Amino acid sequence: MTILKKSDICKKYSMYTRKERNTPEEKPTRTELSTLGEFGLIDRLSKSLTIKHAGTVKGIGDDAAVINTGDNLLLLSTDLLLEGVHFDLTYMPLKHLGYKAAVVNISDIAAMNGVPKQMTVSIAVSNRFSIEAIEELYRGIHMACDKYNVDLVGGDTSSSVSGLLISITITGEAASNEIVYRNGAKEGDLICVTGDLGGAYAGLLILEREKQVYKANPNMQPELNGFEYVLGRQLKPEARTDLRNIFKELTLIPTSMIDISDGLASEVLHICHQSNTGCRIYEEKIPIDEETKRLALEFNIIPTVCTLSGGEDYELLFTIKQTDYEKIITVPEITVIGYITASSDGQKLITPDGHLVKLTAQGWDAFISKP
Ligand code: ADP
Ligand code: MG
Repeated sequence: MTILKKSDICKKYSMYTRKERNTPEEKPTRTELSTLGEFGLIDRLSKSLTIKHAGTVKGIGDDAAVINTGDNLLLLSTDLLLEGVHFDLTYMPLKHLGYKAAVVNISDIAAMNGVPKQMTVSIAVSNRFSIEAIEELYRGIHMACDKYNVDLVGGDTSSSVSGLLISITITGEAASNEIVYRNGAKEGDLICVTGDLGGAYAGLLILEREKQVYKANPNMQPELNGFEYVLGRQLKPEARTDLRNIFKELTLIPTSMIDISDGLASEVLHICHQSNTGCRIYEEKIPIDEETKRLALEFNIIPTVCTLSGGEDYELLFTIKQTDYEKIITVPEITVIGYITASSDGQKLITPDGHLVKLTAQGWDAFISKP
């Protein structure tokens, strides 16, 4: 066997040498994540996919995938939560975190008008966490599973070198004529939301403020009295699984639906892009709780901004045919905030003084660098 000298090895495998790699024509392209953003990246990763199974009714692009297994359709959705990115344990109790992690997944099934059924929970934990701490996280997960009638059926456990990671996958079920996609909105449809918006963001503002106060002086007690509603919206959100029953009673099937995880503007744009429509949203019709309004103003933020760009409210945004308007007017949980237009009209917010403002999805995109 000939022993190659180092220089010979370099010659033979020159494609691996630093010199060769650095020639301009062979330099691999590097595109920054910030040029695409989260949704641009998902589009790019999924654009060349072809569906292999007839049972895959809906793949990437909605709140959950839809799979035909025979009788009813199976809904499937997954979410990843990372410490330091999606939650901050300085003010998020572990039990609440577990509850919220489960609820955000259940919300994706509600957004398809389905019934949540089973979930798997995978965690990666560092030795910073005790067994008791992880049990506390699971107490929250169990609480949500009990409340929403979901079975915890599996998962995976790993060690982590950088904090806590939680990944939950959920299944749900619905008949094919009940499932509501993001892409069914039509010109003239009314745009509706459940509950009120912006509260979760207002809660986050308070928690962040108190964190800064605590960091400056650990002897200071946090001032959280009087903010119970918005704190609850941030720390213990609920999924609107009740809407499925309300829709059933009203014999109403929305034309499109999505849950509000990233802020109203982003979700409205998802519906419009997927349905190939425009929209008009009346700013003054967006439902906002008094506590949210008070807090936003205290922080010098226009309350509507909390609703449009805040996110994490986990309410449902949906569209209905105009002829179904009579069905919803007496339902206190539902507010009509605007209507769907032709795509060429664009996606606009109508301010109280009648100005049209282009809707933009500021605040939704984890990858877009913010000033
Ligand atoms: P939601 O906010 O409802 O959880 P997302 O915005 O996270 O939805 O995802 C939108 C769509 O893109 C979904 O169909 C989701 O399954 C899909 N998706 C997200 N990330 C990836 C990925 N890394 N690879 C493939 N599909 C993805
Ligand atoms: Mg969703």
